[in-house]
Amino acid sequence: MIEISSDTACLLYVGALVLLLLGVWIHYAHKAKKREIVKLTTVHVTCEYCSHPYLIEAYTPFHRCPHCHCLNKNQVDHTQHR
Ligand SMILES: [Zn+2]
Repeated sequence: MIEISSDTACLLYVGALVLLLLGVWIHYAHKAKKREIVKLTTVHVTCEYCSHPYLIEAYTPFHRCPHCHCLNKNQVDHTQHR
C-alpha cells in the first residue's frame, strides 16, 4: 500500500476536481460550437394541406412540405419580416 500524507491526498483531490471541471467545461464549449445556427432569412410557415409547421427560406416562391410533400405557395408577408 502506498502511504501518502494528508497534504498530498488533499492536493490529489483538488487536482482531480479541477481536471473534472476542466473536462466538463471543454465538453460544453465544444458542444456550443457545433450548434446549428438558423439563418435569419428563414420564416416559419404552416402547410396548407396538413397544417405541419416548418421553416423555409423567406424569398422562395414555392416550397414543399417535409411532412406530406405537397407543394405550397409562399404567402409570407415580407413587410412584417425583419
Ligand atoms: Zn403538409
